Amino acid sequence: MAFAEGATLQQLGDVLVLGLGKTGRDVALYLTSLVGRVSSVTLYGGLSAQAGPDVDALEAAGVRVVNGTEDVTGHYDLAIASPGISPKTAFFQAAAAHATEIIGEPEFAYRESPARWVAITGTNGKTTTTALTRELLVAGGLAAEAVGNIGTLITSTLADRAEGSWYVAELSSFQLETTRYLHPRVACLLNVTPDHLGWHGSMEAYAAAKEKVFQNMGSGDLAVVSCEDDWCRAIIERLEARGLRVAWLSTGEDPQAPCAAFVRDGALVVRLDGAERVVAQVAELPIKGTHNVQNALAASCMALEVGVSADDVRAGLLAFSPLEHRIEPCGELDGVAYVNDSKATNTDSVEKALTAFEPGHIVLMLGGHDKGTDLTSLAEAATSCCAAIVCFGDAGPRMAEAVRACAPEGLTVACAEHLADALDTAASLAHPGDVVLLSPACSSFDEFKSFEHRGRVFKQLVADRIARSVAR
Ligand code: ADP
Repeated sequence: MAFAEGATLQQLGDVLVLGLGKTGRDVALYLTSLVGRVSSVTLYGGLSAQAGPDVDALEAAGVRVVNGTEDVTGHYDLAIASPGISPKTAFFQAAAAHATEIIGEPEFAYRESPARWVAITGTNGKTTTTALTRELLVAGGLAAEAVGNIGTLITSTLADRAEGSWYVAELSSFQLETTRYLHPRVACLLNVTPDHLGWHGSMEAYAAAKEKVFQNMGSGDLAVVSCEDDWCRAIIERLEARGLRVAWLSTGEDPQAPCAAFVRDGALVVRLDGAERVVAQVAELPIKGTHNVQNALAASCMALEVGVSADDVRAGLLAFSPLEHRIEPCGELDGVAYVNDSKATNTDSVEKALTAFEPGHIVLMLGGHDKGTDLTSLAEAATSCCAAIVCFGDAGPRMAEAVRACAPEGLTVACAEHLADALDTAASLAHPGDVVLLSPACSSFDEFKSFEHRGRVFKQLVADRIARSVAR
């Protein structure tokens, strides 16, 4: 039986929360506010969780906190796991064995407030598309909030959710794995390319987690799905076989489906049930690159579906600037533009980022923590359009070897130890009219706390160079 929208909110009984991070803490505190619906709240922090002010605050609110063990005891009507705790772990399984049902936080938030959800997933482009979709809804006069993996815990927003407002939720494959009744009005799958395979175990399991976003949708809803990779095309087939309306998303030509979003003669076109609207020209978009055309098409399609006019979509698209760390311009010196794309932590993102710039004028900075992914396609793409490539960090030597294996004669491939010397080398190789692009294809943990930290350090290094040049 599907979860009934608008049904009286259920009694939750004895609830178990797993994890003492922000998700676990906020969910537990929210539960304590549900007077009359919750009999007890127990939080297991995990093996390394310890006493401290957070635990004191939870206990003061009435939560029973158990730390230092993953050996769950007792029986619970519902367990809610934090997204960092994989269903494969002994901790999750111990909780599942002692609960009638175990779910993740987005599923819980959905059950608490199930109306007007737009859900966005994919390997890359989720955050950009989520932020942009929210902007387009707001441009159309709708109340909308960007929530989920984008950084705002959905549960924390429940109490203040405005009447009639939309949730535009970014959902990761981890979060989707623990959904059950989640039923968005519109959902989007941007792409499925290899990532997080360590967590999911296989590409099949990873793609299946993403496909779950559509599992409860029906014929009155809209699924927006890329038709540009094999995994997504197989999903389109299955969704259409179920009778779902699917908008085929293509950065190339018209996919010729009744619902589609695509590019025709340089214009972004959305067709819903046969009715076409041109929303903007590709050249007018402030966010650059083929991947951002895809993100803009997806967001436009979703906004039109929920009632935003084509004029308001256009206004929203033209007003949307790049998000931090995503092809973010961060200064110019001696005719060379510097761009921070620190968020590009896998090879596919870098290949997409390269399409945002003029071929032959890119000095690319690649490297960081080595994820061990195959580099063939990246090396081919980079060597065909870069003026020079600088490889750095732990992954630097392997990157340089892959790139050199297909570099045409005359292409400089340099190595540097750290980000700072990589930037010095890149700057020395760039000519006026070039762009120095940090789009590293790696996570950052060899040198930094996060991709945000790496991006901020990069921007500071660029700012320092500009300041030194002004002082000269
Ligand atoms: P996510 O939230 O899925 O990680 P972001 O919007 O933060 O996605 O973008 C991360 C990186 O992925 C960007 O820096 C860009 O290089 C790349 N990217 C963005 N959109 C897409 C897309 N639609 N397809 C492929 N790569 C993309």
